Amino acid sequence: MIRAAVLDRFGADVVVRDVAEPVPGPGEVLVAVEACGVGLTLERARTGALGGTTPRVVGHELGGTVAALGPGVTGWQPGDRVTASFYLTCGTCPMCAGGRETLCTAWRGYVGLHVDGALAEAVALPAANLVRVPDGVGLDEAAIAADAIATPYHVFVERAPLRPGQTVAVIGAGGGVGVHMAAMARAFGARVVAIERDAAKEKRLSELGFDVVWNPGDEADWADDLIGVLDGKVDVCVDMVASTATLANGARLTGRGGTFVVVGFQPGTSLMLDPAALILDEVVVTGSRYATRAEIARTLALVAQRRVEPVIGARFALDDTAEAYRAMQHNEVFGRIVVDTRRP
Ligand SMILES: [Zn+2]
Repeated sequence: MIRAAVLDRFGADVVVRDVAEPVPGPGEVLVAVEACGVGLTLERARTGALGGTTPRVVGHELGGTVAALGPGVTGWQPGDRVTASFYLTCGTCPMCAGGRETLCTAWRGYVGLHVDGALAEAVALPAANLVRVPDGVGLDEAAIAADAIATPYHVFVERAPLRPGQTVAVIGAGGGVGVHMAAMARAFGARVVAIERDAAKEKRLSELGFDVVWNPGDEADWADDLIGVLDGKVDVCVDMVASTATLANGARLTGRGGTFVVVGFQPGTSLMLDPAALILDEVVVTGSRYATRAEIARTLALVAQRRVEPVIGARFALDDTAEAYRAMQHNEVFGRIVVDTRRP
């Protein structure tokens, strides 16, 4: 048996209990999990908004070591340090073949929703999902790099390619992905404007030394105030919050030739645009979806080089997963939450 965080039905609380140890099937690898990240995606998964079936072991941001190989697996050895992609992709559709695997058209779902996940002492995953963790990167760091740091890498490589010296604004920069979005923009040579409404997180962002840290307070329309402070608009604006209000402000903040990238998601919001900005300023409005395995590998290399420092804001034991969920649901942690899933 292993300890695992299980969602028995959508909408229920996740409970930690003993479950049968997974057995790796053909093409699968058993990973002894050491750490698993907890972000807002897990809350959306809990409510059923991302699909899948229950009962289900949740969790997808993992760092661990290969424990056993299923039939037919080559290229991995017990003891190899690994993280994994969140997506179960087909590997052969035009999107996968073209290097855009997060847009896979024969997609089979998410780790932790459509197959059992990694908020557990062990998980069996397709070998194709694994990404090797380089020396110098902790398995807790690798866990969050696979999602919270790789997602920003995809943004600045594919959706809004950065040139050194450009200005990047991040709306919601104190969150688990947001702080790494700001850190990644800095690693790419940008001037970073970190926008955060929570005073404690604002203070932490200032301590991390981002060029401008801005708190819009309770103001609904704050873009013009910030444009005044910056003496201009920005080249890239990334919205981690994506409320109707932040979408409007982010679009307004994006300047001539710039790109507005929506990463956060809230159901029921909408974005109104003045098409004049699209024409006269050639503003690009787009979104960004996760990261490829190659991008996860390059993100791990950046962490190994210490160009981007993982920000782990809170740690919990596996048996205290309910507390990790509460901290995540109340948005009270700066950076990412990590659960220690090592077997005692
Ligand atoms: Zn595919």
